[in-house]
Amino acid sequence: MGINRDRLAQATAQEGQRFHDAHPRARAVHAEAGHLVSGVPMTWMTKWAGGFPVVLATASGSLVTDVDGHTYVDFALGDTGAMAGHSPAPTMAAIESRALVRGGLTTMLPTEDAGWVGAELARRFGLPRWSFALTATDANRWALRLARMVTGRSKVLAFAYCYHGSVDETFVVRGEDGSAQPRAGNVGPAVAVSKTTRAAEFNDLESVEQALAKGDIACVITEPALTNIGIVLPEDGFLDGLRDACDRHGALLLIDETHTLSAGPGGMTATHGLRPDIVVVGKAIAGGVPIGAYGISANLTDRIEAATGPGGADLVDVGGVGGTLAGNALSLAAARATLGEVLTDDAFTRMSALAERYTAGVQDTIDRHQLPWSVTRLGARAEYRFCAPAPRTGTESAAAEDEELDEYLHLALLNRGILVTPFHNMALMCPATSEADVDRHTETFAEVVAEVAG
Ligand code: PMP
Repeated sequence: MGINRDRLAQATAQEGQRFHDAHPRARAVHAEAGHLVSGVPMTWMTKWAGGFPVVLATASGSLVTDVDGHTYVDFALGDTGAMAGHSPAPTMAAIESRALVRGGLTTMLPTEDAGWVGAELARRFGLPRWSFALTATDANRWALRLARMVTGRSKVLAFAYCYHGSVDETFVVRGEDGSAQPRAGNVGPAVAVSKTTRAAEFNDLESVEQALAKGDIACVITEPALTNIGIVLPEDGFLDGLRDACDRHGALLLIDETHTLSAGPGGMTATHGLRPDIVVVGKAIAGGVPIGAYGISANLTDRIEAATGPGGADLVDVGGVGGTLAGNALSLAAARATLGEVLTDDAFTRMSALAERYTAGVQDTIDRHQLPWSVTRLGARAEYRFCAPAPRTGTESAAAEDEELDEYLHLALLNRGILVTPFHNMALMCPATSEADVDRHTETFAEVVAEVAG
């Protein structure tokens, strides 16, 4: 069984009309935003199905209400930025206290919150030293600089179809001959990606060996499971093999937990007992207030200290690591409250159980129509993909993309009060997500898939 493409085209047109008619205010907001590039504050917002995005009015917990008065169960959760739920009370109280009671959003001074957050991240991820950024992108960029500095090597190894933010070295796919090729659509790269990067396939240790054997890799950068091209879970032994290969070839290992934090309070670093040299986090940890952070191992700390300071590289001022607003008082106050009171160990247990329920619901529909699809869960996050079995590599997963199906499913779900991430089919649970929210998705997904299956 599969998808009836004629019915899909017809149903997409109907859903598109329904969406258009139900969102007059959003249409007007979009039309009046002529001074914004592409009519949106960030160009990726044009990715929402329907030709224009719905416009946020209010949000609370797992729910979002738009300016046309529709309320949605939000499984996109800001593509992880709102994994703590929208405006969780402890985070809001900390923001209010910092902003309105104590004052001082950004001052060039540390706060007491910073040390607490560093200690909590150390407890969760097992890395003893932490530094802050405003985004996970910046944390990745700065960490890669440090890796090149201490190893004296120029290149990084990245996996085909990875995503780590707008980090130049990582817009890579792997050519048939194993070479690093630019990912389609890369905007104005400073140098060819082959000059900065070697490419490997996730779950393919042989491709990792080949790349590392050249002896010029400073750092392997990877998510412990790919989450930006569907979810690609690591096969048994892959992450251990990666660590071992890094050690044998003198390369550092950067584990980017920005999304895989969904696996648990200390991400997959904790659940899988990983031993990275660097961990990067961001997005969720301050409850939606911009933040990024990187943690470094004791050994790497020593190597960084040896390479910086008088006569060495400049880690303090204009050496290329750091930003004026990074480590600001507001984001650290929000991070302390979010980590301490919202994204707690208990919350993860509940969120994972909800994602299990969500996954079972999606699997039921796949089974009922015998669709060649798969659904994969990583803790509190789940995603379906239009291939079965689930993909093993980024390249396999990229081949399963289906823009027509995405457009239809996103529109049909939106029209029935459900938000999923526009880039793919990711659903994330937050502490405020309820079983009723999940069941609503299960029933709606069953209904809209039945329309086009067969
Ligand atoms: N790392 C990963 C794994 C990501 O998925 C993303 C963004 N989707 C980033 C880093 C960058 O995050 P930001 O855009 O907040 O800098």
